[in-house]
Amino acid sequence: MVEKLIRRLSNIKEKNNYRTLQYYDKKYSKYIFIEGHRYLNFSSNDYLGISTDVDLLRDFYDSIELDLNWHGFSSASSRLISGNPIIYKMLEEELATFLGKKRAIVFNSGYHMNIGVLPALTDKRDLILSDKLNHASIIDGLRLSEAKHIRYKHLDYDGLEAYLEKNRNGYENVFIVTESLFSMDGDIADLKRLVEIKRRFSCYLYVDEAHSIGVYGNGKGIAYEMGVLDKIDLLAGTFGKAFSSVGGFIATDDLFFELIVNFSRPFIFTTGLPPVVVFWNYFILKKIPTLVEKINKLFMLSKRFRSLLIQMDYKTLGNSYIVPLILGDSNKTLEVSKKLRESGVLVPAIRPPTVPEGTSRLRFSLNSLMDEEDIELVLAGLKGGET
Ligand code: PMP
Repeated sequence: MVEKLIRRLSNIKEKNNYRTLQYYDKKYSKYIFIEGHRYLNFSSNDYLGISTDVDLLRDFYDSIELDLNWHGFSSASSRLISGNPIIYKMLEEELATFLGKKRAIVFNSGYHMNIGVLPALTDKRDLILSDKLNHASIIDGLRLSEAKHIRYKHLDYDGLEAYLEKNRNGYENVFIVTESLFSMDGDIADLKRLVEIKRRFSCYLYVDEAHSIGVYGNGKGIAYEMGVLDKIDLLAGTFGKAFSSVGGFIATDDLFFELIVNFSRPFIFTTGLPPVVVFWNYFILKKIPTLVEKINKLFMLSKRFRSLLIQMDYKTLGNSYIVPLILGDSNKTLEVSKKLRESGVLVPAIRPPTVPEGTSRLRFSLNSLMDEEDIELVLAGLKGGET
């Protein structure tokens, strides 16, 4: 009995995939301080460096100073009861306008959103087709849905089309689900092709822009940059990354909005976000047009880092500010991550089950506070680590 539970842990320890929690003392600019040591932080999704921007924080608190209502930490009930402060309406209307959609609906996190939307929209006569590398929250959403689901090979749109050709008629509604910028490989979905496929086979398209919203397409995401935002049925974003906050949202039409409000259990059965958080999300959304310089700097630096890694014969993937360095073996990945840490660089070792066996990697998440000298520090650390 208890032995079985202990064995679960020893199995992952043997494979070097055992995880422990680590606490930090504070963050300052691009640095994180742990147990008195300072590290350059490549492990954060705060791509625009907003979370440590004290001037911005001061501006924010100044802007809400007069009304203590908005400083609160609890909505004190679920949104459908009374935990629905008017700033939710402001945020959702602003999001809908920003993304050119009729409606937007905010969830407590991107995880709530991804486990909550597809189950609310589907039943057993439906089919969900999901990219194999979609985030765990999407996979959990598939599990919770009554629909049949298939995880298609990463970015294999020929395979997806062939499957639909054969099987589309066997289902009522079909949803295709993809991330736009994939968080583990740092590569990008061909949303134009997916829009063609969804049109041809009468499917709905759900695009998770968690890692791209706020940055790509002047902050409007990759679908906007590719010119297909108006063709995406459900555009999902999160506030936990470039917005330096917490929450998730879907920008969509009236019908999907109403279905979510009425049927999405992770939306209905949870206390609303703290008003102060909703207000911050609104505040940052309004700031996005002023962040262009930070965004451009991030793209330039990422390009440079990737090309230097390639020049030095390292294996990397994708073409964004998420730069994976593929090392294959979990043990080796942990070792190199440890060596880099000794040289003042914090970068996560990503191992199975987060990524497939044999593809363990260091995942460098760059942010716009970093400079060329930071990249050089990494490259020197890697050389020292003899990868
Ligand atoms: N979608 C994707 C693609 C993600 O990478 C993540 C989190 N890493 C989520 C959704 C979940 O978002 P949140 O952290 O807001 O729960």
